[in-house]
Amino acid sequence: MAIIEFCDVTMTYGRGRKRAAALRGVSFSVQEGAFAVIMGPSGAGKSTLLKLVLAMERPDHGTIRVADRDIHRLRKGSIPYLRRNVGAVFQDFKLLQDATPMENVALALQVLGMPRREVRERAARALHQVELDPFTPRPARCLSGGEQQRVAIARALAGEPAILLADEPTGNLDPRLTREILDLLAGIRDRGTTVLVATHDPLVLDHASLTQTIHLEHGRLVTLSLSPPLDEDDEDIPAILPAVWPEATGAVA
Ligand code: ADP
Repeated sequence: MAIIEFCDVTMTYGRGRKRAAALRGVSFSVQEGAFAVIMGPSGAGKSTLLKLVLAMERPDHGTIRVADRDIHRLRKGSIPYLRRNVGAVFQDFKLLQDATPMENVALALQVLGMPRREVRERAARALHQVELDPFTPRPARCLSGGEQQRVAIARALAGEPAILLADEPTGNLDPRLTREILDLLAGIRDRGTTVLVATHDPLVLDHASLTQTIHLEHGRLVTLSLSPPLDEDDEDIPAILPAVWPEATGAVA
C-alpha cells in the first residue's frame, strides 16, 4: 500500500514577480515500510516536499495523500493527528542545548499532553532505539554531532509515528557517522516505520537497505527508482496508522 502519494504537485513560494516554483508537477508514491531517499542538490525542492507531507505548506496544484487521506482537505482539527503520525527531523528544529537527551525527548511528548510516566517510558524507549543512554546527565551541548542527531531522531520517534521524515540527517557528519545514522534509520524501518530521507549526499545512495530513490532537480522529478522491490506480502511490516483519526470532511484546513 502507498503511504505517501504525490500526484502532479506544484508548489510556488512568494507572489507576483517574486514567485518561484519549488516543485513542478511532481508525482511519486512511497510504499508503507519503505526506506526512501529524496536526492538532489541544494534548492532542488527536497525540504519543500517534506513540508508538504506535514501540511506545513500547501500545494498550488495537485494532490498529496498520506495514509490514503488527501491531507490538504483535512479539517484543521485533524492536522495534529497527521503530525502525530509523521515524525520529522529538520535541520532547523534544534535541540535544547542545556537539556539532557531525556529532557529533549520528553518535552516533545509533554506538549502532546501525555501523562508523566508514559512520557518517561516512551522517551527512554526512543533513546534506546537510537542506542543512547536515556539516563545520561550530559546536556546536548556536550554531545558529539552524531549523538545530537540521534537525540533529534529519538525525539521524532518518541510519538511512535508511522512515518519518519529526516531532512539532511547526515549533514555535517563524516562518512563513518553518516553510515551509522543510515544503519540506525534502516533499523527503524525494519521495525515498521516508513522512512523518507532528504539529502544532497550521494554517499547515502550506497546504503544497502534503501528501497527507493526519488531524484529531484530544479523542482522536477528526474528519476524514480525502486531497488529492490518491496514484497507486498511482507508480514513483518505492520499496518500502522491508528484507526482513531477523525474523519476528514471536504473543508479546507
Ligand atoms: P532543498 O531542500 O532541496 O535545498 P528547498 O525545498 O529548500 O530545496 O527549496 C526549493 C526552492 O524554493 C529554492 O529555490 C528555495 O530558494 C525556494 N524556497 C524554499 N523555501 C522558501 C521560502 N520560505 N520562501 C521563498 N522561497 C523559498
